[in-house]
Formats: sequence, structure tokens, C-alpha cells
Amino acid sequence: MALLPTVMVLVDISGYTRFITYRTISLIHAEQIITELLESVLDQAEFPLQLNKLEGDAAFLFAVVPPEAERTAVLRDVLAQVEAFFAVFARRREQLGHDVERCRCDACQGVLDLRLKAFIHPGEVLFKQVHGLEELAGEDVILLHRLLKNRVGLDEYILMSKEVATAALCDRRADWGRPHHESYDVGTVTLHLAPPPGTMLPPLPPSTFLSRLRLRLRFMTRLLRKLWSRRRPNYRHLPAAEVSFGSFVAEAKEMHRHP
Ligand SMILES: [Zn+2]
Repeated sequence: MALLPTVMVLVDISGYTRFITYRTISLIHAEQIITELLESVLDQAEFPLQLNKLEGDAAFLFAVVPPEAERTAVLRDVLAQVEAFFAVFARRREQLGHDVERCRCDACQGVLDLRLKAFIHPGEVLFKQVHGLEELAGEDVILLHRLLKNRVGLDEYILMSKEVATAALCDRRADWGRPHHESYDVGTVTLHLAPPPGTMLPPLPPSTFLSRLRLRLRFMTRLLRKLWSRRRPNYRHLPAAEVSFGSFVAEAKEMHRHP
């Protein structure tokens, strides 16, 4: 077993689950199409980025940061590779759309609706061998997978940890993506949301009276829940800094600033 600094990537194909009917032919074709698309993306990946495993409609890749390498250089390399995935994916999707045109099944008819999302997160990762297979474990692996559930609400994007964006920002336009926050049980995570290359993110909806009210309500609910939970002994085993009222208020303020 070894604990190594690693940059992890999840690429996820979405667009199918909504309408695939549970007919065998459709399911088989859906599986074939997803496999072809994932393969086109994975063919594009180069060292130090390598595949760990396929996870349904997603692929989990990683790059170990070698001790002699400059960390920011590895982060930039991984981001550039991930950005290149989008063009390859789109090209293969168009080809497939053409190839399967004549099949009337839901999967083949829906190829052009498929989209790619990518998630990048660096962290300390535990590498262990289980039955000859390399297994990646640790809190950062869990966090990366949590990012799949988010409030982004777009079809195609790259969601990355702030560190990745900071490494790349120097050679980007100032309006490249925007900060994004997600709340998980570990707390609020500061991320960066970027569009696939050659595209722009749609502008944020303007803050309205209703959206501000919703934010305030969410804050009040969390505040009440927090106050209530302090009366119970469940959190005694945690260090005070993690569960204190002060840390909660700081986090809530941060969320308020970047809803
Ligand atoms: Zn078909």
C-alpha cells in the first residue's frame, strides 16, 4: 500500500437514463454506444493519465504526481487532456449517429443527445492491490465521486477543484469559467466550473427576490438544525473546530457570498 499525490479524473456520459426503455435490443445498443464513446475518449488519454476502471457510464482515470515533477505542470497537463476529450467525444458521437441511423431503437435514436461531463480533483490517494487489481481509496476519491451529484444544471462542463483551476488560470482568459460551490456532508467545497473548449457557460440567472429568500430559508433551516444537533451528544467525538457554531456561521457566510 502507498499514499501518493494524485490527480483524479472522472468522465461521465449522460443523456441516456431518461428515455431508454427496458427492451433488450435498446439496452445492448446503449451499452455498445457508451463503450465506443468511452473508448474514443480513453484512446486520447496519455501518460501520466491512465485508466483505473470503468464505472457504468463513467471512466475513472488518475495521474500520479511524480516526486520530481512540478505539481502545477501535471495539473495543467491533465486539464489539457480532459479538454481534448470533448472534441474526440463529439466527433465519435456524430460518426455513431450516422452509423446507427437506420436502427429505430431508443438508444440509437438518442445518440446525438449524449453529452460528456468531466470532474478533476487532486488529492492524497491510497493505492492498494486487491486480487491483482489496483484499487484507489481515500477521502479525496470519495469526494471526486460526490461531485457527480451537483447543482450545476448544465449538459456539458468540466467541474474541477480550485487548485486545478488556479494552476491553469495564468494562461486562460479572465472569463474562463467561474467559481462554483457545492455543499456535502464534509462541508462546502470550492470548485471551478469551466465550459468545454470553444464554448461559453450560460450566464447565471440574476438574483431575484425569490432566490434570495430561498437562500435565507436554507440558511435558517441549517442554523436551526445545527442548534438542535448541539443539544445532542452525537458530535462529542469530533474536534470542536469542526462542529462549532463559529465554523458553521463562517461556512454559511461563504455560501451566501457564492450561492
Ligand atoms: Zn439500436
